[in-house]
Amino acid sequence: MVFEGIVIHKVPYKERDLVVKLILRNGTMGSFYIYGGQGGGKHHKPTIFELGSMVKVMIREQRSRIDGSELMIAQESQRLWEPQNIRHNIQAFYLICLYFEILQKFSVNFQIGSSEYNNQEHDGIFSVISNAIFHLNDVLGKNEFVAHQHMTLFMVKLLFHLGIMPDTDNCSYCGNSLMEAEGASFLPANGQFACLQCVSGENEKGFLLRIKKGYQTKYQDIRELTGTNFQEADKLVHYFCHHFQLKPVELKSYGLLLR
Ligand SMILES: [Zn+2]
Repeated sequence: MVFEGIVIHKVPYKERDLVVKLILRNGTMGSFYIYGGQGGGKHHKPTIFELGSMVKVMIREQRSRIDGSELMIAQESQRLWEPQNIRHNIQAFYLICLYFEILQKFSVNFQIGSSEYNNQEHDGIFSVISNAIFHLNDVLGKNEFVAHQHMTLFMVKLLFHLGIMPDTDNCSYCGNSLMEAEGASFLPANGQFACLQCVSGENEKGFLLRIKKGYQTKYQDIRELTGTNFQEADKLVHYFCHHFQLKPVELKSYGLLLR
């Protein structure tokens, strides 16, 4: 059986082996044991399992399987694509680490025997992450990388695919159009906005407009998503965390990114 996916986590094991987690094309998360996966050895082979790389893994037929074990043993593996520019930019690197941490908080584990590889239920997640990495690498090559712009677009696309996009059309209390309201405030606990007639709070209409814009913006047009900032990207991360009952401090790369 052959799998394709993006490396989102890796742990060295023994002297030269690796345990890697891939976000697979079908949007689930697969764990693989790779003999010699760390590279090195007599010929100083480099590893092909850099974070963010797209790889292809063929697994060994496992005759005796421990029930419930999700680790698959790789027989052959190959790199299909690597984000060459990301590892040279520390902020971009922490950003993809954050994406991968976020993915691991909700992704479903692929279990051979009980999961269907061709099931398309979660494949939107794969397109969100693969587009994010491809275009992040691309703008780095053009010197156009703006961290909060990428973080904002990623979070908006992700929230949409998870089905937890905040309603940006109507006030959650009175139902009136938010576009016509003079101001709107974000209520992360409900994942909704309210007009300033109904709640008194910070006017976050700019944030609302950028969520709408992000929803409509394709990754290749990311430079059109203007006016983003870390503060707003942070609100989206907090909202995600609130929804999944996490604390932002549990996302280790987040602290590194904002440092
Ligand atoms: Zn209202």
